[in-house]
Amino acid sequence: MSAFQQERGILVDGIVGSHTWGELVEASRRLGDFILYLKQPLMRGDDVLKLQKRLNALGFNAGRSDGIFGPDTDRAVRAFQKEYGVAEDGMFGSASHAALVGLRVDRPGTPAVLREELRRSERGDVDLKEALVVLDPGHGGGDPGICGPAGITEAELCWELAVRVAERLAGGGARVRFTRTEAENPLAGERARRANRIGGDLFLSFHLNAHEEQTAEGASTYYFHSSYPAERLADELLTELIDLGINNCRAHGRSYTVLKETRMPAVLIEPAFITNPDEAKRLQDPEFMKTLADAVSTGLRRYYRHQP
Ligand SMILES: [Zn+2]
Repeated sequence: MSAFQQERGILVDGIVGSHTWGELVEASRRLGDFILYLKQPLMRGDDVLKLQKRLNALGFNAGRSDGIFGPDTDRAVRAFQKEYGVAEDGMFGSASHAALVGLRVDRPGTPAVLREELRRSERGDVDLKEALVVLDPGHGGGDPGICGPAGITEAELCWELAVRVAERLAGGGARVRFTRTEAENPLAGERARRANRIGGDLFLSFHLNAHEEQTAEGASTYYFHSSYPAERLADELLTELIDLGINNCRAHGRSYTVLKETRMPAVLIEPAFITNPDEAKRLQDPEFMKTLADAVSTGLRRYYRHQP
């Protein structure tokens, strides 16, 4: 494919038929290059993706960050325009772009929450160091959770993993708090309340999966379905776990109380099945626990690095 054709494809067609061709075009589009708006066929590209991520980070619900400018993104652009005093026409052009990239913390009349989000998203150096991470080891106290084949309990393993993750995060400069002590088993709502009271930036709950079929294996993550930051965090964490060679049981939207009632992005992870004899055995290996904790802390770090 010649450079000329590529150039022409981008400038004249915008959206083209062939899949490969389309991918090429989409990947080359930077936010601000084109006016983005709702039209048929739907506009798509990296610029749309970046716009969606940015709007979602600011609290405007642009829908799933899929790089396709659909009705949700249209609504979010209009809400953004209204909030920031740009003509509310749904056309994300130079005025809207300037508003999005040019906003400053001291801009008057901007809601405090949005300013804070913006401050975080605009600095390129945001990392875990600024975060207050709340870790929630599942079960505990009189509730062992699921018991594994060798008698080891979900509560023990979750506690062990959470402590190791806390060590990693604290070692990297993050502040870490737990929702409970080792001897406690607060109700889910109480765990969420504690996280909210602490004012955590992120909430991470640890559990293990279970199935009557001993062969069931793998890692899954869960996020509250209308929280896009949480969905992204769930994806980052899952990616790291899968990279360890653990079977991919995917990220799922769920309305678990700890996910729904926490005010910060919250994810529940189940890195393995305690009912699978091989996985239960690996979980009792300190080296494997260490690797898991590394993967979780890397996932959190990646989440912060990729903030739009
Ligand atoms: Zn559990």
